[in-house]
Amino acid sequence: MKKIAILGSTGSIGTQTLDVVRANKDLQVLGISAGSNVEKLESQVREFSPKLVAVWKEDAARDLAVRIQDTKTRVVSGMDGLLELARMEETEILVTAIVGMIGIRPTMEAIRSGKDIALANKETLVTAGHLIMPLAEECGVRILPVDSEHSAIFQALHGEYKEEIHKLLITASGGPFRGKKREELVNVTLADTLRHPNWVMGQKITVDSATLVNKGLEVMEAKWLFGMELDHIQVVVQPQSIIHSMVEFKDGGIMAQLGTPDMRLPIQYALYYPHRRFLDGERLDFAKLRQITFEEPDMETFQGLPMAMDAAERGGSMPTVFNAANELAVRKFLQEKIGFLDIYEIIGQSMGRHTIIEKPGLEEILAVEKETYQWIESRW
Ligand code: NAD
Ligand code: MG
Repeated sequence: MKKIAILGSTGSIGTQTLDVVRANKDLQVLGISAGSNVEKLESQVREFSPKLVAVWKEDAARDLAVRIQDTKTRVVSGMDGLLELARMEETEILVTAIVGMIGIRPTMEAIRSGKDIALANKETLVTAGHLIMPLAEECGVRILPVDSEHSAIFQALHGEYKEEIHKLLITASGGPFRGKKREELVNVTLADTLRHPNWVMGQKITVDSATLVNKGLEVMEAKWLFGMELDHIQVVVQPQSIIHSMVEFKDGGIMAQLGTPDMRLPIQYALYYPHRRFLDGERLDFAKLRQITFEEPDMETFQGLPMAMDAAERGGSMPTVFNAANELAVRKFLQEKIGFLDIYEIIGQSMGRHTIIEKPGLEEILAVEKETYQWIESRW
């Protein structure tokens, strides 16, 4: 039995992780958690009988505790609850399917408790990669990528030597607005933005895919996961989302991982690494597919990518400002309080006023997040 806990079990990655659990009888879920979706948590508790469920919101936790009082599952709440879930004694792997840099503390707690991390929560690595990667090494735990691009690279690197990599080629679909110019983005609606061409995902990452902030976050994620310099990471637009990413080696050879867009594959690969299991679902049919096309990313229109590269190059606390500003801007965009292009404006202005802290510690990262939020709230 492989025992796992899931941070963010009610979301897109969380529920697909539970699909993988359903299909594999040797996986057992000991802990689940979510922000506030009590109905979904109740049904997950009844189906998977975890020992612990952590709910962020206290009133939701109380509500859930009443609903499931006939079960043996214990309910905890707040950050203390997430930390308790992260360090649960019997679990081997923590799946970080929570959204946003709120995942930093539980991820670090799990690493310190010796759990391997199946990492979907990219915001955590973007803002605290310089703390997390050395901590994982020190504690002897593995960070197993779930993000499809990073899983593809991880698969392509299997059995290869890190010193022989020339560059990482991260593929991007280009999002719902690929081909549009800046003037055409002025009046795009929330509904237009949430219509991703290839993937059904949580709302925040879907907006990030449209701004190309997601690709920027993924470049930073790759830098930390694979220890690569930024000038050895390239973004390639591949609109069909068939090639999930590639690695070019010193001799010019390129290894790519292909497949239909299905997040259950990277989730399952992370849970069973280095083994592969049967996975039902649609397979690639090259006769039907016929072609895979490539483009360069439009860095002038989709500023999310160049802004992220700038934040990564400047380093220190700047990626935290980039990420925190984006998290709040996206929240406001989802509430239809700001327009699409305001997201870039908020990130750009937040970065412009920030004085970098080199090698920020955890408390400094959280303070920079808070300060960035306060500044944005005072203006938008
Ligand atoms: P989602 O919005 O669908 O789900 C987020 C989950 O986190 C939910 O269970 C929610 O309840 C929980 N959560 C949010 N705030 C919380 C809080 N304060 N305390 C406890 N739980 C909280 O998001 P998603 O699309 O599943 O994405 C999750 C992470 O995985 C993100 O970092 C995203 O970038 C990454 N990711 C997602 C996909 C995808 O296909 N969805 C692909 C690659 C990477
Ligand atoms: Mg991705």
